[in-house]
Amino acid sequence: MTTTRIILKKGEEDRILLGHPWVFDNEIDKITGSTESGDTADIYSSRDKFLGRGLISSTSKIRVRLITRHKDGLDRGYFKRLVDQALTLRLQLYNHETDSFRAVYGEADNLPGFICDCFTNQTGQKVLVYQSSFAGLEPFVPHILEALSKTLEPVATIERNDLAVREREGLELRKGIIQGVLPDPLVIKENSILMNVDVLNGQKTGHFLDQRENRLSLMPFVRNSVVLDAFCHTGGFALHAAQGGARSVTAVDSSDEALKSVKKNWDLNGFKTPLDTVNANVFDFLKDHEGKQVFDLIILDPPAFTKSRSTIESAIRGYKEINYRALTGLKKGGILATCSCSHYLYPDAFIKLITEAGKDAKRILRFIETRQQAKDHPVLAGYDESLYLKFHIIQAV
Ligand code: SAH
Repeated sequence: MTTTRIILKKGEEDRILLGHPWVFDNEIDKITGSTESGDTADIYSSRDKFLGRGLISSTSKIRVRLITRHKDGLDRGYFKRLVDQALTLRLQLYNHETDSFRAVYGEADNLPGFICDCFTNQTGQKVLVYQSSFAGLEPFVPHILEALSKTLEPVATIERNDLAVREREGLELRKGIIQGVLPDPLVIKENSILMNVDVLNGQKTGHFLDQRENRLSLMPFVRNSVVLDAFCHTGGFALHAAQGGARSVTAVDSSDEALKSVKKNWDLNGFKTPLDTVNANVFDFLKDHEGKQVFDLIILDPPAFTKSRSTIESAIRGYKEINYRALTGLKKGGILATCSCSHYLYPDAFIKLITEAGKDAKRILRFIETRQQAKDHPVLAGYDESLYLKFHIIQAV
């Protein structure tokens, strides 16, 4: 197979030299060679400086995603090396025998658009759940899965390619078991808490591993607390609160399925802590509680309010509103744990809107801890998109 040669327009190399792995359509000056999805392309600056080697997507505005900054052969052995590198980091961070972790995190592991979560049950069986959203890498996914399976030896591998972004890449939507037998139920242990994971029908891969360490960071504040877990999903934060001795927990979500799994997880852990599950829009729920100051700890973990730069203003209004209302519902001296997983809401802008919400709510805020996504979702320097989760623990007096 020949390698396509792509020359960028003048000045377009700066971002790439800093570490960003994407080449957009409108940055390209000249293409020599084939541009089918999955073709290999070498990228050069306008001055003919080699910048890196990547794969082409014929349908996306992101025309090439770089895999390497050298002229490595992108073959089966190379993809195995990338997977092994990714797994070596996770092996340093977590216990492969008992822990669940994100085994591959896309661009940050040089495997653009590809993520894979590894869920480990109580008998040490592993289930891999992957999503792949870049047409260029699609022909190589079997090599990546082969390498993952060789080391992790999963009892089942699940494809969750039911992602809308795949359509933009000209890829079909698919999900299902592609290998093995799925343990039913699949129960993982996170920070000593048992949780059911629905890898086939749950949101995303079934469980949000990116909040694992943030859930743990709230343990100092939960004892004897009246806790609100807003946007609770399967109850990650709520369960940690119960484990740490909360007085009571209210868990709010707009999905009945999510609330059912909170209750199931509560029973699974044998928690006796009073639990109130509420199916509501969090905006309405917080409005009803405005000014009541009943909660000692409120967790706000909404879905991304924007996935593009163009809708950032309305997203900011949404974030500000829930933070304002949550602050008015918090007891004096209480703790607000507030998150944003919108990449386009940059860290400074998030802090600014929280500060303004504090002013409107007439509360003085103390930022106690600032965190990000878990360590198995590392941030690639020069590629800001890989830092998406912002998490603050704030005391409001
Ligand atoms: N905190 C969770 C993850 C939250 S994901 C954890 O630790 O696992 C976001 C959740 O918000 C989803 O479960 C979704 O069903 C819910 N959701 C989205 N919009 C909502 C809204 N307006 N009101 C209530 N819940 C909402």
